[in-house]
Amino acid sequence: MKKNDTIPEEKQYTEIMEEIKSSFPKGTVQRRSDNNRRYIPIQVYEHRMETATNSQWSKEVIELEINSEMKFVKCIIRVYVGGYFRDGIGLSPITQSVSNSVDLASTEALRNAFDSFEMGWKDLHQFTDWGKNPGINISINKLSNNTDSFESNKIRKCKKCKKKLSEEDIEMVDDIPKLNIDYCIEHIPDQFIR
Ligand SMILES: [Zn+2]
Repeated sequence: MKKNDTIPEEKQYTEIMEEIKSSFPKGTVQRRSDNNRRYIPIQVYEHRMETATNSQWSKEVIELEINSEMKFVKCIIRVYVGGYFRDGIGLSPITQSVSNSVDLASTEALRNAFDSFEMGWKDLHQFTDWGKNPGINISINKLSNNTDSFESNKIRKCKKCKKKLSEEDIEMVDDIPKLNIDYCIEHIPDQFIR
């Protein structure tokens, strides 16, 4: 395959990267029940990769180590976009079946590879310490055509009491996909709270 064939001519790498890095719709970020950590499901990442690159991306397992003595699985996956690639590493302890641990390690590796393309950063940075680092300089307003990122860029207030939403309020509101109006935790209508 010639290098020119890997990315359709009308879509340049910079354009693809812009699309890869752009914000996801509200409700995309999930919260793990066991440790409260935020994450974006792997299917969402893969779908973004498909659409942003017109299916011109691929992945390759670079390393898969099943260490039965130390009881862990290590996986390194490489994701290619055109002539560029990023590696992601995944580790999983072997608790039950080996195949289950291989699945978990490879999913983590793939997610980390996608993460290296800065995919999902605009959505996840608010939940992280690194996201507040000025060296990262995540500019949400660069994507002015995206309503969600526009929303998150302005001051959000409770519709009822007009109070500025705290970080906790925002997390709560953003965790309820059906809720499209901002409320503080106190004033979220009952039907949205399970
Ligand atoms: Zn309120």
